[in-house]
Amino acid sequence: MGNELSSRELGSDLAMLALLRSLEEARMARSSSEPIMTQHGWDPDDCSDNMDVLEDGLKVRKKVSRTLSPLLPIPEMRTDAVRGKKSYRNGTHIWRIHWPKQHRGSHAMVGVASTQAPLKCIGFTHLIGSNDQSLGWDIARNLLIYNDCTIRRYPDGKMPGFEAPEDITVILNMDTGVLGFKGGGENYGVALTGLRSINRPLSPAISATKDGAEIGIHYLGGTDSGPTVGPTPITSPRPASAAGAFTFHSKVHGSAVKFLNNYRTAAREDPLNNDKNAVVFTSRPLETEELFEIHIDKRIKGSDKPGSVEIGVTTVNPQELSSVPATMTDCKVGQTWMYSGAEMLLNSLKVANMPKDIYELQSTGKLSKLGVKRDAQGRLDIFVNGEYIGTINDRFPTTIYGVVDIYMQTVQVSITSPKVEAPIEKEEEPSGQTQEAAKSTSPTSPPPPPITFRKTCGKNVEMSSDQKTATRRNYMTDCDNGIVLSSRPLQSGEMFEIRVDKTISKWDHEGLKIGLVDLHSGFEIPRTLPGQIAEVTWSWVGDEVFHDRRVEKKLNMNLNRVKNGDRVGVMRASDNTVHFFYNGQDFGAAADRIPEKVFAIVDVHGCTFEVSLNMPDTEMETKQTAPGPNPNSEVNTALMKMKQTVELLKIKNEASIKKVKQMAQENLLELYRSHQDPLLRKAMGEKFTEMQGETHIVDYLKFLRECGLEVDYIQECYSTLRKICVWYSNDSLKFARALGETDLLSIVVSELQKYKNKSYETDEKLLDVVKTDLILLHNCAKVTENRGVIRRLQVIDAILPYRNSKIKELSTHALMALSYMVAIDEHHYIQADENSIAFILQILEEAFSNKTTHMSETGYHVDEVLVGLANLAKNKGNRINVVKKQGVNTFVKIMKLGRPSEQECAAMALLEMVDDTTVQHIAATPGLHGVLATMKNSPVEAVRQASERLLLKLPSQDSFVQMMPDMPKPTAPKRRKCDYKEICNAYMKTLNLNDAFFDHEFDRCYCSVCHTDRGDDLYYTRGDPPKDYGIPAGWCRYALSLPAKAKAMNVLEAWHRAYHGTRSTAVAKILQVGELLMPGDTALGGEKISVCKGHFTEERKPEGFNIKKIFVSPSIRYAGHSAYAMPHKYKDATTEKNYVARVAFQICIRPDSYVVGDQTIGALSQIDPKFDNQEIEWATEERGSTVLYGLLVKLEEEVSA
Ligand SMILES: [Zn+2]
Repeated sequence: MGNELSSRELGSDLAMLALLRSLEEARMARSSSEPIMTQHGWDPDDCSDNMDVLEDGLKVRKKVSRTLSPLLPIPEMRTDAVRGKKSYRNGTHIWRIHWPKQHRGSHAMVGVASTQAPLKCIGFTHLIGSNDQSLGWDIARNLLIYNDCTIRRYPDGKMPGFEAPEDITVILNMDTGVLGFKGGGENYGVALTGLRSINRPLSPAISATKDGAEIGIHYLGGTDSGPTVGPTPITSPRPASAAGAFTFHSKVHGSAVKFLNNYRTAAREDPLNNDKNAVVFTSRPLETEELFEIHIDKRIKGSDKPGSVEIGVTTVNPQELSSVPATMTDCKVGQTWMYSGAEMLLNSLKVANMPKDIYELQSTGKLSKLGVKRDAQGRLDIFVNGEYIGTINDRFPTTIYGVVDIYMQTVQVSITSPKVEAPIEKEEEPSGQTQEAAKSTSPTSPPPPPITFRKTCGKNVEMSSDQKTATRRNYMTDCDNGIVLSSRPLQSGEMFEIRVDKTISKWDHEGLKIGLVDLHSGFEIPRTLPGQIAEVTWSWVGDEVFHDRRVEKKLNMNLNRVKNGDRVGVMRASDNTVHFFYNGQDFGAAADRIPEKVFAIVDVHGCTFEVSLNMPDTEMETKQTAPGPNPNSEVNTALMKMKQTVELLKIKNEASIKKVKQMAQENLLELYRSHQDPLLRKAMGEKFTEMQGETHIVDYLKFLRECGLEVDYIQECYSTLRKICVWYSNDSLKFARALGETDLLSIVVSELQKYKNKSYETDEKLLDVVKTDLILLHNCAKVTENRGVIRRLQVIDAILPYRNSKIKELSTHALMALSYMVAIDEHHYIQADENSIAFILQILEEAFSNKTTHMSETGYHVDEVLVGLANLAKNKGNRINVVKKQGVNTFVKIMKLGRPSEQECAAMALLEMVDDTTVQHIAATPGLHGVLATMKNSPVEAVRQASERLLLKLPSQDSFVQMMPDMPKPTAPKRRKCDYKEICNAYMKTLNLNDAFFDHEFDRCYCSVCHTDRGDDLYYTRGDPPKDYGIPAGWCRYALSLPAKAKAMNVLEAWHRAYHGTRSTAVAKILQVGELLMPGDTALGGEKISVCKGHFTEERKPEGFNIKKIFVSPSIRYAGHSAYAMPHKYKDATTEKNYVARVAFQICIRPDSYVVGDQTIGALSQIDPKFDNQEIEWATEERGSTVLYGLLVKLEEEVSA
């Protein structure tokens, strides 16, 4: 709204800010000793024990941290918080926080908290804002924090160096759920909204990290019931007319509005004299995912009127408005979000900057359409000229109306959204009324609503809350009353499939039954099938299909013999027949003349007592009503298409092979390849894995092989499905891991063996098969979990014949695959000729030159080629060839211009290239020393370490320049002792551990200098089956004496290696007990082990999450993260420097005793290049499955005091 807006933003018309001003004025007139201030001050009974509340609650002081114990002179790093004495459920409340700048430390949170927010923790963090019960502004870092997430920078539009003033005014409106701040005479605007969703009263709160920090609070005043709450409660049921035609509200609108076109067009009368009073609303609230879009029909050309149309949403029910405001930003009730100019306003306060300025677009005649849509997650998507431009990341109430302000330059607008949308019913009770279920499964028709089990079910059935699992109660004594139905009629061709979860042998003469039922009015759930409803059911009982007490067909599968994990399905085909399925196998038409509207019916009977739906994940199903392009709906559509294809794959029927090929090609392959973003591709691979796509594809491949691959269309389908495996496994390690568990690898190996002597180099079809096989093996070999099966299948032998293929692409795939598999004594297998190395370097160049994907045409990522080259460098001939073919220049370029992970991988690959023969050539590479010097100052620790290691392996630049050709090579002087280890030794003494625990013969320093001196690798493989682990670069190891069991059980050879970060205070206890402790364990001396703050506890943990586990990782980068290896301060007496210290254990862990899982520290980027984030955390519940063999220490110099 142009210039007017800025003055308005200062608060002239906002009730909240007017209130603020009057309160502040009142405060000036009052003395500061009024008791109301102390009534609302800090609560001495509700703060961290490390906080002192002073001056009757007007001030709080963080105590100076204690040292950990008298023996351990290490001050603890901790964060402490305090809540106010009062909490507020309603009204607007305003208080001032006084926080001197020198008292702020690394994290200084000003905000609000419910009683459920924690008030102390170890380490420095944004404690207020650390869960979903508190939130606020970190004035040290200018960030808004909620639920342990950074919401955005704040205040909006401030330069990075902005420093919050010492006095900050906090404005909390509990009626609208909004938190805002003021300071230095400036209104910083709305900070956070949606506070009502916390659903608890909130108190003022702060959290501080700085020892001795003093923070004052002065309550300025408030109202018990703030501005009128929007008349439409958030939870009000949607009007029954919700899905009807969509128009402007015919009765409630601005006084200057006239309607045309059946209330679908609205215009401002006498626009030249009238610039306001033209607010219009939608006739009903917006549905989820329903686009409300207007077309701008007319504007005043060449007008200098400051402002244009605004679109938005409001919680106000127009019907209940006493008068329509002149402009919508004047609206005093409810919550109204308006897109105005280049900003999103909430009740006229800016909540977000928008990427497009619609006022400017309107002025230049470039604005044609504007739209808003609340998505399934409750956020608001914004559209300009039919194009999605962004999302307001807030939780919008479920009942919101669309609103348009036909303002200033804009004269007439029309609704573009479709006139009438076919309603899609969510669930229908079996009362016999008709239902408009879509009749086609073509990918273009709107998808049906998700299917679940119907709530109405047999007496003995216990339904899970998501209505996807049904269990028969009393299954020991009762075999009946286990009937469940589908929530809606099945679509034609839609398979309803369940999975058998639990069986009991007691009832083995009777079992599961499944069928279709024509529900009629007065239907009563029978005890069992077919029972008294035989006339209206077609049911599979035992090995027979019944209808109306007649056997319609015999099947060669008896349902009384199903096992756990079996899948059983039923489908009404489009030719009005019923088909039954067992583990995807179609038994063909079992009966015909099935009515059009039938429900699935399942009898959880006899030996089967628990079943689950095995249908597409319903959470992502969304109605597709929005016209026009929209990335969100595109993703939903993509998922929908993936699911439809998976459904089709389940039905193995020769007649549908062509359809499967076409659907897979369009919905899985082309759709995937049309998206270039590796993250998006990875996400698609993960979603596909969640749908068990790999199992269904491999099952289908096996089915196709049985049909005979000689037939062209079968071969084409086969080839398409394999390409899908190749592409998805390329970007998603999760998918590659899942593939390793299928029979695909053994198929691939048998193919490679079969074709090795055939003319694959000249036969295009064979060539394609072989190529795909090799890439698949390469992708699967990257996953450490697959190494075991790769060994068992003797994959190396199968690949070797292709290593020297005349076709370069083929030999490259073979080499790269082998590079992940060969053991130390097999390095001769990966010896490549010059041309092959040159070809791989060419792929690297190609991948790096693609600035969008960082990927080559054939799908190799930069990181991946670098890791492959590092692997190949285990062979000396390859090292020489890489140098000869100018590979080092490419590495230097990547180290200079690449992403941090690429810089690190390039340095690691180059490090592998350095040996006596190559060192001089490498050191002479132009630009190398310069780029290494730059990398030494990288903000990323791994990049710094990589460059340090490389520098240590190279002669220094000076010595190289001075070196004469006939002079002997400079050799690094033998170092007597390591400074880093000395400091670590001093630190170890402060831990005061009994020396009897240690075996110092195997102590080892892994600082860059020592590590490079030894010439060790960064990753090793240990155990049976073999697993990788990273060496603890940057740490110092104090070796522990091994228990007898280690030798007895050959632990060092047969078990896997991993790390376990912990706090320094726990070390002594763990050493005394002799193994890692689980939460809840009682240690020696009777002390109970508690769970660290910030980790899950029994009271606060995701459902099904067992905290009685030990977490370890093959990566020290993960195990050494602050969430595990708690950092604390240490001052070295000799160097007088301050360090941040951490400790961790190096352990052996029994293979098969642990499960591999996702990282849980909220990492957004890859933690360790060797391990995917999805396989970096190992958890074990098995006692005795770990053996400690080293205590690791890491000291980092504190950068600033
Ligand atoms: Zn060292």
